[in-house]
Amino acid sequence: MMAAEILIARQLTYFAAREKDAERRCDLEAGMAKLLGARVAWAAADNALQIHGGNGFALEYAISRVLCDARILNIFEGAAEIQAQVIARRLVEG
Ligand SMILES: Cc1cc2nc3c(=O)[nH]c(=O)nc-3n(C[C@H](O)[C@H](O)[C@H](O)COP(=O)(O)OP(=O)(O)OC[C@H]3O[C@@H](n4cnc5c(N)ncnc54)[C@H](O)[C@@H]3O)c2cc1C
Repeated sequence: MMAAEILIARQLTYFAAREKDAERRCDLEAGMAKLLGARVAWAAADNALQIHGGNGFALEYAISRVLCDARILNIFEGAAEIQAQVIARRLVEG
C-alpha cells in the first residue's frame, strides 16, 4: 500500500507540473497533489515506524524523526484545510 500510494501521489504531482509547464491552469491538480502527498507521506512514515515495533518510537532510530518531519507537510506551504478549500472552490466553480 505504501508503494501504491506513493506512486499515485507522484504521478498526480507530475501531472500538475506538466499542466503548469504547458501554461494551463493547475491549481486544482496542484492542490490535490499537495493534499494527497502530505497524507501519503504521513501514512507511509507511520507504517514504516510500525514495522520497527517499539524501537521505531525511540529517538535512536531515524524513523522516529521521519514521522515527526512528515507531520509538518500537512501544515506548511499550504495547510491541508487550505488545500481542501482550493479544491472545493474549483469543483464548485465547475
Ligand atoms: C518554525 C516555522 C517555520 C516555518 N517555515 C516556513 C517556510 O520555510 N516556508 C513556508 O512557506 N512557511 C513556513 N512557516 C509557516 C507555515 O507555512 C505556517 O505555519 C502555515 O502556513 C500555517 O499557518 P499558521 O501556523 O499561521 O496556522 P493558522 O493559519 O493559525 O492555522 C491553524 C490551523 O487552522 C487551520 N485553518 C486556518 N484557516 C482556516 C480556514 N479558513 N478554514 C479551515 N481551517 C483553517 C489551518 O489549516 C491550521 O490547521 C513556518 C512556520 C513555523 C512555525
